[in-house]
Amino acid sequence: MKLRCSFCGKNEDQVNGLAVGLKNAYICKECAVRCAGLAGKGQTQRPIKERKTVAKQNGQNKRKPLPKPEEIKAILDEYVVGQEQAKIILSVAVYNHYKRIYYGEKTGVELQKSNVLLLGPTGVGKTLLARTLARTLDVPFAIADATAMTEAGYVGEDVETILLRLIQDTDFDVQLAQNGIIYIDEIDKIARKADGMTTQRDASGEGVQQALLKILEGTSANVPPVGGIKNPEHDYIQVDTSNILFICGGSFDGLEKIVGERIGKPDLEPAEAMKYVIPHDLSRYGIIPELVGRLPVIATLDDLDEEALVRILKEPKNSLLTQYQELFRMDHVKLDMEDEALLAIARETTEKKIGARGLRGVMERVLLPLMYKSPSDRSIETITVTEAAVLGEEEPVILRGEPPVAQ
Ligand code: ADP
Repeated sequence: MKLRCSFCGKNEDQVNGLAVGLKNAYICKECAVRCAGLAGKGQTQRPIKERKTVAKQNGQNKRKPLPKPEEIKAILDEYVVGQEQAKIILSVAVYNHYKRIYYGEKTGVELQKSNVLLLGPTGVGKTLLARTLARTLDVPFAIADATAMTEAGYVGEDVETILLRLIQDTDFDVQLAQNGIIYIDEIDKIARKADGMTTQRDASGEGVQQALLKILEGTSANVPPVGGIKNPEHDYIQVDTSNILFICGGSFDGLEKIVGERIGKPDLEPAEAMKYVIPHDLSRYGIIPELVGRLPVIATLDDLDEEALVRILKEPKNSLLTQYQELFRMDHVKLDMEDEALLAIARETTEKKIGARGLRGVMERVLLPLMYKSPSDRSIETITVTEAAVLGEEEPVILRGEPPVAQ
């Protein structure tokens, strides 16, 4: 196994030798010179992606204080509507995770990693929560889809490829990647066939689960520097996964039957059932018990009702409404959408049963003719979208002024 520069990822042969630092850190001459330049010239030269991470500062003894759970949740609140319980559970899990990394060694108490499982239907904010958390803590982040993964040696993505994405997010700074967060979507789709369940993947799902298990519990993984199947010709990048936080998500369709049976309520609604899930239910669903054991924190996300969808349209930073208003503003048009119009959009979205994911499509349908027309009609000043306009019963209300005189 060849050693690699922790900054640029090149191996020892490519860079003609490496200087060794603490804890498996290496640097090549080129990067060392660049870093020296950075220190000397102040602001002028910044070759390495600037990332003032908690993780990096840790190594330099200038650690940014770890945000407390309430502070983490307050930031999540700016981007994610509702999902109160899941936000609290995640904020605490993430806080404990980074506490474990920073202080765990000193205490002598071995703290178990708090990987998280998010249960909930599609489009309710699972990925958004994981992504926002990574942004809040300013740590590297990658998303992977469990359905694309295969056992080593089969056509498809090796489980290690998910680590490559994380390394790519740091411009090949392996040290930094080792403190990142990975979100694995559709974890339920690799369940093995369980008692009476027919929807899951065949037995090969179990092989993927075994491979994931190793990575989740903390291992030194060999990551191929290019995606795809491992090639013995390539040098691998060695990644220690013990400090990577894994957040897994899945809708677990049909889990309500298992839960309902256990608690003696066979007609339990899926959303209600998710509140009572215990690890054993997940094993019965087809997730191997060892993997369930590596996901000690379970949070359930709620279905989004119409009111929540309206809030998602208007409230988060960078909300869809703000984005469309900005697009119109660039053409000097003020876009107003009445509350009833937003509610009608939420209602139409609910019918699609894909959560908030469907909002954009409906907004696009409603606003498309206006986005087509307004750039060439300079007299338009304000457009008000009413409920009737969303339902296609009336045209939106357009207020015009004097078109600006051409210079
Ligand atoms: P999933 O639960 O399937 O992972 P996502 O997090 O990918 O869903 O949500 C899809 C999109 O819907 C997000 O990018 C976001 O714009 C929006 N969205 C979903 N849930 C919420 C929420 N609770 N608050 C704000 N936006 C949301």
